[in-house]
Amino acid sequence: MTDLRGTPTPTLAGECVGCGASRLSPAVCQECGEVFDVPQDAFAIFGLARSWSLDSSELDERYAAISRVFRDKSSAREDLRDRAAAAARAVDAARKMLLDPLERAQYLLASYGGVERDEPVRKTEFQSEVMEINALAAKARQEGDPARLAGVVREAEEKLASAIMAAGQSFTRLERSLVEEVNAAAEALAAARFWRRKVDELRAGVGRR
Ligand SMILES: [Zn+2]
Repeated sequence: MTDLRGTPTPTLAGECVGCGASRLSPAVCQECGEVFDVPQDAFAIFGLARSWSLDSSELDERYAAISRVFRDKSSAREDLRDRAAAAARAVDAARKMLLDPLERAQYLLASYGGVERDEPVRKTEFQSEVMEINALAAKARQEGDPARLAGVVREAEEKLASAIMAAGQSFTRLERSLVEEVNAAAEALAAARFWRRKVDELRAGVGRR
């Protein structure tokens, strides 16, 4: 579920059916160690809202807490051991995916119905940048100049960083407008409900005459 507030607000994962404790993660109960199905939504595993802006220290704190439960509580119960190990692997993979900005972007893109491309569609601009970097790298290698080659690496790193930043800006705009449009739809629906009641009321009045 996408949290429509669009912020990585901690969300409670509901109560444990085993012991009734409110869970930190839908995947496991930190009180009794009961293991549940790991949610499809990687953010939801950690009780986080799906969003580009990810507090990595918050994620790591929750990851550490969840892992500790698997290790100390779930594994202590023989009936849960195998499921705990499998769930722990899924939680590990989700954390790794969320922390990698490219993986996170791919995940968010898919969640918005977008499809990843093999390369940018705006080809000319992109390809001239690629050619420039390739030419600089070839020259640096030819001259056997490691400092120069390191400079080319830095330049490529900057291109990587700015592409990630552009993706992040798009996701942030998307999240913001999603919140706004959902609010607008909620307002319109409230008005429509009122007017439907009013129309019914007025029609009934017409009928009585
Ligand atoms: Zn429990």
